[in-house]
Amino acid sequence: MMKVDILAFGAHPDDIELGCGGTLAKLISEGKTVAIVDLTQGELGTRGTNFTRAEEAANASQILGISARENLKMKDGFLLNDEEHQMHIVKMIRKYQPTIVLANAIDDRHPDHGKASKLVSDSCFLSGLIKIETFCDGENQRPWRPKQVFHYIQWKNLAPDFVVDISAFMDKKIEACLAYKTQFYDPQSQEPTTPISTKDFLESLTYRAQDLGRLSGVDFAEGFTTEKLLALKNFEGIIL
Ligand SMILES: [Zn+2]
Repeated sequence: MMKVDILAFGAHPDDIELGCGGTLAKLISEGKTVAIVDLTQGELGTRGTNFTRAEEAANASQILGISARENLKMKDGFLLNDEEHQMHIVKMIRKYQPTIVLANAIDDRHPDHGKASKLVSDSCFLSGLIKIETFCDGENQRPWRPKQVFHYIQWKNLAPDFVVDISAFMDKKIEACLAYKTQFYDPQSQEPTTPISTKDFLESLTYRAQDLGRLSGVDFAEGFTTEKLLALKNFEGIIL
């Protein structure tokens, strides 16, 4: 067991960096601990291989300052929200005992994102049930339910329920994304072009964060949706 403050799940290595890399860098700079669980190796991706993706994920983790990163090696493109998949996620939640879980967007271009979103949400609930027994390294795991599950926005322009000011961490976010060298814009690459390897996609990371910033009064922001109504303790953390 290795308790962390935030546990971020992504269907593919790079989802987390694209969706909430700036937020994670910011939280880590404030002393919070973050672990990442990638559900698949992204093995169906047009560019790169399992090996390059794993190496790139390790580099991105180092840039962001992630405490631990695991890959569940589920089947890319064929994620299912069934008992077998849920039990794998429950084990991770009980292992890391996070206060907050971050998960994929509830609806997105890649069908795995929406499926992973629901799979992680349902598993967060199941993880709190005492009668579901799981074992890790021969030890019986305690039930654990995170206090909040937030879904980071990735490809589609979903309306966020809240945004995080990442102005001081935009550079770090881009650096972590570019750690996935095989995936994104590289004029020297001989590999086939994909929707995320274009120059426009790379630029969209900045202009979309800038646009959320424009709407919220900061330079750059990342957006999230919530599963329940979010209550503020006070008005201190609000950017006015
Ligand atoms: Zn993805």
